Amino acid sequence: MEIEPVIGLEIHTELSTQSKMFCSCSTRFGSSPNTQVCPVCLGLPGVLPVVNEEAVRIGIKTCLALNCKINKYTRFDRKNYYYPDLPKNYQISQQYIPIGVDGWVEFEVGEEVKRVRIHNIHLEEDAGKNVHEEGKNFSLVDLNRAGIPLLEIVTYPDMHSMEEVNSFMNELRNILIYIGASNCKMEEGHLRFEANVSVRRKGDEELGPKVEMKNLNSFRSVLQALEYEIERQGARLRRGEPIYQETRLWNEEKGESFTMRFKEEAQDYRYFPEPDIPPLEIGKTWIEEIKATLPELPLKKKKRFIEEYGLSKKEAGILVEEKEISCFFEEVVKICPQPRLVVNWIMGPLMRELNERGLTIGESKLTATKLARLLEMVKENLITQTNAKYCLHEIFDSGEEPERIVEKRGWKQVTDVEEIEKMVREAIQKNPRAVEDINKGKKTAFGFLIGQVMKLSQGKANPGKVREILERELGKC
Ligand SMILES: [Zn+2]
Repeated sequence: MEIEPVIGLEIHTELSTQSKMFCSCSTRFGSSPNTQVCPVCLGLPGVLPVVNEEAVRIGIKTCLALNCKINKYTRFDRKNYYYPDLPKNYQISQQYIPIGVDGWVEFEVGEEVKRVRIHNIHLEEDAGKNVHEEGKNFSLVDLNRAGIPLLEIVTYPDMHSMEEVNSFMNELRNILIYIGASNCKMEEGHLRFEANVSVRRKGDEELGPKVEMKNLNSFRSVLQALEYEIERQGARLRRGEPIYQETRLWNEEKGESFTMRFKEEAQDYRYFPEPDIPPLEIGKTWIEEIKATLPELPLKKKKRFIEEYGLSKKEAGILVEEKEISCFFEEVVKICPQPRLVVNWIMGPLMRELNERGLTIGESKLTATKLARLLEMVKENLITQTNAKYCLHEIFDSGEEPERIVEKRGWKQVTDVEEIEKMVREAIQKNPRAVEDINKGKKTAFGFLIGQVMKLSQGKANPGKVREILERELGKC
């Protein structure tokens, strides 16, 4: 029996605001516990929350980027539950009138463009963090995270394979980074997922009972947890056993999920409108203003790179994968209008340097101008490819100008015909065996002679010219 999974995701993303959702405490990551707190985010009696305008602005921007309708009025609601990391005993969220609804995200899976619909996008605040130290019989609570703005993006169950889920998550992450909504640093918990999944016989219309998976803090855990769950449900379906609607917790270390609660035990959050915050009216002018700040999104940029610069799909894909790299590429091409040369250098030597040094392009000493001028020298045959790579390495080390490095190292390429002729004749004279082999039709000997000439020039002779002159000179032999 062929099984089809039906998958939807809820994505929690921490917004890149300076201050928290309802108070002016800092959102900085990694500070000492409970140093970024105030009466508001500690939930002390008598305080009043004040909405962070920047968080609402980012919320609207995300809704626009994900093609959502923006609600003219939006409102906050209280979600009531008790947990030690939630000092107010309720979380301020948006249950009834979220900021945006009915959107979609397009992304590529292989050759196809797929679309996942967005059910809604709503604003809320993060909870604190319980710290369980090993070997201790007590737990600690850090409330630095309590009140950090969160945007929750809820999709429809439109995904049916791991490839789709993976591509969707990547595209969404990219969009959030492109528009500056979130830094999406997984290791700092900027992106957290919950997944819901059911399985059905392929071709069936009806949905099976839905299982919610919680506690997914990386792309990898989403994919592993889903794979595990699809396998588990699929086996039950094949055996004719019932599948229960439940919430399961993913345990990354064990690679297993466990029942957290069944549907009957579902928590009643007793939602009601937040009495301390008036509804927000989101004016058309504000929406238009925010729309004007939307950058070109990754998928569109990829298409443009293919059309405008004649790049392959793969090349364009690698460039737009990181906003910074794609912008860097365009800056270089503006000065050195050789897109193919530039993309090869970015994908090859440049990315290798970045990986080895563990740097982003912005953190490195290489600028677009420096790379462009280096590549101009390559294009003009003023420096060999090999020496250009050494030069790039040195720019990464010292940040020095490429021309100065080439000058200092004596890497200026020899293109002077007479000078190369001299070296060619010397190589021929010193290697009579190789010449004999060439006359017998041995092609490798020709390569050997080119190598000898290059050696004589200390790697500075233009290889094209060497080949040309060597062929001519051998003809005379
Ligand atoms: Zn605070």
